[in-house]
Amino acid sequence: MELQERLDDVRSRIAMAERESGRAGGAVCLIAVSKTFDGDAIRLAIAAGQRVFGENRVQESQGKWPELKAETNDVELHLIGPLQSNKAAEAVALFDVIETVDREKIARALATEMKHQGKAPRLYVQVNTGLEPQKAGIAPDETPAFVAFCRSELGLGIEGLMCIPPADENPGPHFALLEKLARTCGLDKLSMGMSGDYEIAVAFGATSVRVGSAIFGTR
Ligand SMILES: *Cc1c(COP(=O)(O)O)cnc(C)c1O
Repeated sequence: MELQERLDDVRSRIAMAERESGRAGGAVCLIAVSKTFDGDAIRLAIAAGQRVFGENRVQESQGKWPELKAETNDVELHLIGPLQSNKAAEAVALFDVIETVDREKIARALATEMKHQGKAPRLYVQVNTGLEPQKAGIAPDETPAFVAFCRSELGLGIEGLMCIPPADENPGPHFALLEKLARTCGLDKLSMGMSGDYEIAVAFGATSVRVGSAIFGTR
């Protein structure tokens, strides 16, 4: 299958999942995760009408996205990988959405940079729903206080929550937990679901899904 066909297939599966769960058509934003793929592969997706992309490394993104953004001014780039505070300046400069805010230090660094650059990427808090020691994200029970801290201490607008469920578990309970936490925090945006489980995520209320290999092929 060509990229265009794979992209069409993902789009139609999202549309079907929206219908089956009684959600409005177009309720879910498809983030095409282009990590490890080069500019030419990404250009094919852009030519096929895709505008929202996700990358998990700041440095890799700096090598390809400034040029791609200059070519197509309405692309929207999401950072979906862990962020170190020494990369906060670069991240604020390049990304339209940063989905991996997960601790005080990085929230402070982003707030400082946003003020400094006069730029306000939209922000999501990443939640480690499976409490996996190797995984980024804040613990579920610390999430409401952290969101409140970001808002009131740092003046950051938090748009939603993001999670990556443990690879070897049924993702449903993790998606349900993220949805419940978002409601507790007064948030209605949920970034959840990847190539293997995005239709399930749509059923659990995802407002964006992050799909890589089902669009670009195996990495
Ligand atoms: C790589 C990645 C994805 C996409 O994974 P696929 O299984 O290729 O769809 C989604 N979210 C995050 C955070 C990722 O790093």
